[in-house]
Amino acid sequence: MSENRGVSTILNADLHCHSVVSDGTLTPEELAARAKGNGVELWALTDHDEIGGQRRAAAAAHAQGMKYLTGTEISVTFADTTVHIVGLGFDADDPRMLDGLSATRGGRGARAMEMSEQLAKVGIEGAYEGALKYVGNPELISRTHFARFLVETGRCKDTSEVFRRYLTEGKPGYVPHRWASLRDAVQWITRSGGLAVIAHPARYKFTPNEEYALFTEFKAHGGRGVEVVTGSHTAAEAVRYADTAREFGLAASRGSDFHSPDESHTDLGQLPHLPSGLTPVWDLLADRIQ
Ligand code: AMP
Ligand code: MN
Ligand code: MN
Ligand code: MN
Repeated sequence: MSENRGVSTILNADLHCHSVVSDGTLTPEELAARAKGNGVELWALTDHDEIGGQRRAAAAAHAQGMKYLTGTEISVTFADTTVHIVGLGFDADDPRMLDGLSATRGGRGARAMEMSEQLAKVGIEGAYEGALKYVGNPELISRTHFARFLVETGRCKDTSEVFRRYLTEGKPGYVPHRWASLRDAVQWITRSGGLAVIAHPARYKFTPNEEYALFTEFKAHGGRGVEVVTGSHTAAEAVRYADTAREFGLAASRGSDFHSPDESHTDLGQLPHLPSGLTPVWDLLADRIQ
């Protein structure tokens, strides 16, 4: 292992988090200040299906003395399952990226209305209006906003309980949705100069065959990275996906997936380092760092 590689895996990079531009509760500026306070050296804001916060995030990162990579987290449907693909280091003005994300956001309004109708049937009235109070970006109403409303009404003690009881498959507020294709999402990212990363792979309920198909097709479309260390993984899962990264020849990413001081277990930058011997995604993105 080269000395250079050993050094670069210990960078405090946080390449996954959310602002009020999607389903986080802090502004890009508040996130940048919090990241800096926690020792982050390289940061990316990765709002769901949206890059409207990128300019503010880059400016805030620079004002704090941090390096910055553009970011987003694209919702994809693969094998009838929602998978998240993080894009890093792309050109945030690229028209195909902007159009693709806009189309991906497009179905959220109707989906939210339907979620509200289903919740009304189990006695929860006014969920759409209730969720809207928490929405920072009218194009990005998400299940997280419904979860905050259900906590507010006292129906559940926290957002995890809301997801368990109402907003996941088989539960009364769950509405299946078709997102972008894996191929489109990876191409929007790579053709705008970025690097595509499979987000929090341990979160998906795939069979071994389906997971193998996901990684194989992702690579075939030009995907080059996987999140190994994330707020969504246990230590054992990080070890497991470090092996997967080696097996598929993928670079490794690291990110908290921070959404809110009140909801997130993992704070910005407060994660184990990447295991040594892996290629960090930031090594492949050196010329995209701002
Ligand atoms: P959506 O894009 O509208 O389907 O919402 C997905 C978001 O819901 C994720 O990005 C998470 O922020 C949040 N989420 C999903 N599952 C859970 C869970 N079990 N507990 C808390 N938040 C969750
Ligand atoms: Mn989210
Ligand atoms: Mn995600
Ligand atoms: Mn996320």
